Amino acid sequence: STRASRSASCWSALNVRPMADAVPDSRLVGDRSLRVGVIGAGMAGILAVIKLREAGITDIVCFEKADRVGGTWRENTYPGIGCDVPSHVYSYSFAPNPDFTRMFSPGHEIQAYLERVAVDHGVVPHLRLGDEVVSAIYDRGVWHLETARGHRADFDVVIAASGVLHHPRMPEIDGVDEFEGAMFHSARWDQDVPIDGRRVGVIGTGSTAVQITGALVDRVEHFSLFQRTPQWIMPMDNKLFSDDQRATFRNEPHRLRELRDFLESAFAENFADAVVDAKSERLEQIEDTCRANLYQHVTDPELRRRLEPDYRAACKRLVVSADFYDAIQKPNAELVTAAISRIERRGIRTDTGRLHELDVIVLATGFEVDRFMRPTVITGLDGRTLEEAWADGPTAYLSVSIPEFPNLFMLNGPNGPVGNFSLIQVAELQMDYILQLVRRLQAGLSTEIHATEAAMREHEARRIEAAQATVWVTGCNSWYLDARGVPAAWPWPFRRFREVMAEPDLDAYHH
Ligand code: NAP
Repeated sequence: STRASRSASCWSALNVRPMADAVPDSRLVGDRSLRVGVIGAGMAGILAVIKLREAGITDIVCFEKADRVGGTWRENTYPGIGCDVPSHVYSYSFAPNPDFTRMFSPGHEIQAYLERVAVDHGVVPHLRLGDEVVSAIYDRGVWHLETARGHRADFDVVIAASGVLHHPRMPEIDGVDEFEGAMFHSARWDQDVPIDGRRVGVIGTGSTAVQITGALVDRVEHFSLFQRTPQWIMPMDNKLFSDDQRATFRNEPHRLRELRDFLESAFAENFADAVVDAKSERLEQIEDTCRANLYQHVTDPELRRRLEPDYRAACKRLVVSADFYDAIQKPNAELVTAAISRIERRGIRTDTGRLHELDVIVLATGFEVDRFMRPTVITGLDGRTLEEAWADGPTAYLSVSIPEFPNLFMLNGPNGPVGNFSLIQVAELQMDYILQLVRRLQAGLSTEIHATEAAMREHEARRIEAAQATVWVTGCNSWYLDARGVPAAWPWPFRRFREVMAEPDLDAYHH
């Protein structure tokens, strides 16, 4: 008993917490106070800091290259930005927000929510804003990080939370440098450029372009939407929550919990589980709903023909909108389906020879989705760089761990459930999983944890096979498809993701 009390007092002197329940006491061999570096202070980075603190880890630095938290929601400020995942699903399970004004919130409410959570949950003191991590080198149990501002810091564990839809994809169109008006990517909206009463052209018809269309058409003199491929549009009823409803959510938290549970299972059943089974009835229902939406709202047969996709609904990421069809039929709106041949001084010329004169061009052309932590140079065991490890495309065991990159874990890493589930839910499940591995390091049960090459290969083989049953391979082009045409996504239902994330299979790891 003397020994026990002595060790207890040692522990308290070191200010370390008792072991987490995942590690049985009998196997307890010690405790280390870990230093953890988090890369990125968007939705996932904020979550990582909160969960690490809950696990008793306090030595955390969260590096963020921008000067504010928020990630996607900080960066995307285009008119009409919102989230097409219901707000009460697109929020942290531990931080419900009774104040969301709508079923699907506008971007600024999500940004404000994330900032508030960061303050309320003690994230702020851990932030290192305006400091981009440029390199991370692993050497015998320690990650050496260096930032663009020349800071160096050492960590036992690194959590990469650097986002997926993050690096703008610039289209390869001749003459892009010749345009004399203003031109920018949708994720780099220039708030100083006047829009009202001007001639605006938007290139693209993804979720972003569709949201911009609804928001801009009434503000501009002329609106041109340059469509290369039409999209199926799922109608949305973006209800306002009344003051009474919000008061109820505030005063009776279980009501908000119930709404969230309901929305979560409806979202999983009606959408997430449907897209991974191309033969499912639900998927047919989705397509029927989209087709009915088009036929009800667009009566001109010629316009309807040009707006109707020739591939299956949800093959590309499904676009959800309440106002797109109305907006594109406004007298000052024009759907341009002729191919763009070049950008010129005064506008965009299509292959029919017509010049569309414009004051502003918005490139809503999507993102380079295979970058992840790059351009940060990451070097694992034996000097192997991430660039080398990912020469054939980004891969990771369960999206979380990369062989030969010990004690580095990713949130929303490669080939995970992007686009079909709420990414907040995904990150929460991944973080709980990662924490179980981190606790082994904390307890001294392991010094290096990384997935085995064999486990990753096996997972990849199964994933690629399962992907053949999804709607993403039924004959369309989309950002889901990697360079080989394989969907870079989780091809199974949500419940399977939940099950797999419940507990790491240690046989899949060097540990
Ligand atoms: P996206 O879905 O990748 O769409 C890019 C668009 O640009 C496509 O219509 C594409 O045409 C077009 N395009 C690209 N290069 C072109 C070129 N050279 N010439 C003509 N057209 C070109 O990008 P996004 O709309 O930014 O959306 C990306 C993802 O972000 C979404 O799928 C979604 O997951 C997420 N997002 C979500 C929300 C939300 O509410 N939750 C809102 C915005 C974005 P093709 O189809 O022919 O390739």
